[in-house]
Amino acid sequence: MSQQALTLEEIQDFKGKYPKQLWLLFLTEMWERFCFYGMRGMLTVFMVSQLLLAEKVANLQYGAIQAFVYAFTFIGGLFADKVLGFRKSLFWGGLLMIAGSFIIAASPKDLFYIGTCFTIVGTGFFKPNISTMVGDLYRAGDSRRDAGFGLFYSGINIGALLGGFLCVWVGKQYSWSLAFSFAGIVMIIGLVTFLFTQRMMGPIGISPLLHLPAGKRKIREIAVFVGSLAVLPIVLLLVTNTEYTDYFMYIIGPLTLIYLVYEMFKYSVAERKKLVAALVFIIFSIFFWAFFEQSGGSLSLFALYNLHDTVVGMHIDPNVVNNTSNSVFVILFSPLIGLLWVWMSQKKIEPNTVVKFGLGFLFLAAAFYVFYATRFFADANGMTSLNVFTLAYLVITIGELCLSPIGLSIMTKLSPKPLWGVMMGMWFLASAYGQYVAGILGAGMATADENASLTTKLMAYTDGYRQLAIYALIAGVVLIIISPLVRKMMQEVK
Ligand code: GLN
Repeated sequence: MSQQALTLEEIQDFKGKYPKQLWLLFLTEMWERFCFYGMRGMLTVFMVSQLLLAEKVANLQYGAIQAFVYAFTFIGGLFADKVLGFRKSLFWGGLLMIAGSFIIAASPKDLFYIGTCFTIVGTGFFKPNISTMVGDLYRAGDSRRDAGFGLFYSGINIGALLGGFLCVWVGKQYSWSLAFSFAGIVMIIGLVTFLFTQRMMGPIGISPLLHLPAGKRKIREIAVFVGSLAVLPIVLLLVTNTEYTDYFMYIIGPLTLIYLVYEMFKYSVAERKKLVAALVFIIFSIFFWAFFEQSGGSLSLFALYNLHDTVVGMHIDPNVVNNTSNSVFVILFSPLIGLLWVWMSQKKIEPNTVVKFGLGFLFLAAAFYVFYATRFFADANGMTSLNVFTLAYLVITIGELCLSPIGLSIMTKLSPKPLWGVMMGMWFLASAYGQYVAGILGAGMATADENASLTTKLMAYTDGYRQLAIYALIAGVVLIIISPLVRKMMQEVK
């Protein structure tokens, strides 16, 4: 079979900085993120302007949708490990996402929630598993792995930037139906790209059940496909009744932890220690995302009310800056930081992953301090500098790059192979909690009432950002202090 032509060794023995398969996974993920962030960027605007929801309800539903998207990655990862393999999971997820986009496109106002549920479950099957396949391109101990994830992360953000900008623009200017179809068409391109990628992936991502007779394997696979369709009405119920989101979040986290502990008993003490170290990263990342994801919530309201519209001499809508500057900075800096790690590793001065995470929090703290400092640039009307705000995005992005691509990479380093999908799913589940907590934090910061002056609003939000800066600083320091302990649990993994 042509898929089997390459062996894993041949793939992992690549010369140069990046394996060639990485570029194809990069493109596939780029199109998927285009579709995902395109949909994400349309959600609240569509809910408020077309479905005429109150802003508060729209925000809550947005938070619930985002939380469910990331929560389903755990389930997608689990079924990839146990039944489908990464490739089929990814393909199935992509098909569901395409279906979701076109369902909404068919009649946006009527089918919005149904289509969104397809996207939620689809992303769950797609997102963790493509990241895991990137990990498979590298041998254990290959110091080029972090740089590879860094490059992959640029692909994510090119897609996020294009989708986040274009879909909402097409929706607002031309037609929502066209905008949602656009997301679907782009996802088709993503899946076709993956079809070509597959040929070069050798044994990576194939079924974990090859030892079973084909018939038995098919039955299990079909059960997963049918099960994931059967779950759609439940997701619909949960998303449209946001009070259920609380219950869901209370249950899913503890349940996954119990499951992980059960799995841990199948492994040696040394492997268990690594899994505990992975959990430390996962738990800290919840805090990171909870702060970081203010960008979709409180920071976009801050951008709406309190910012001038001039950045480096150009007139740009502050909300556009809020939505795109993070991606722009990732695209600019991710390859550079990836190469910096490779260079430092050659010089034997590369900080270990725990310290990189700690640095991520220190940058996060600095960024929120800059968001806080916007108050010192405000005029008498409570309007402040978009330049300073954008600078904060630059700093927060450096923090993200010290943590997020490395988090993907470390999940594949610290987990035994049969748990890769689950652990990647847990990594993204932390994002689900982050999104969830972000909403709560943002709501807590919105202390000024609707009719308060802009200066009062500015003070309320920036007070909140100063608090977040302090918490982020504490988290960073704690991480750096406990780094020797975590390092010990990680053993030979750097
Ligand atoms: N921006 C990254 C992505 O879309 C990370 C998202 C996350 O883990 N919260 O993949």
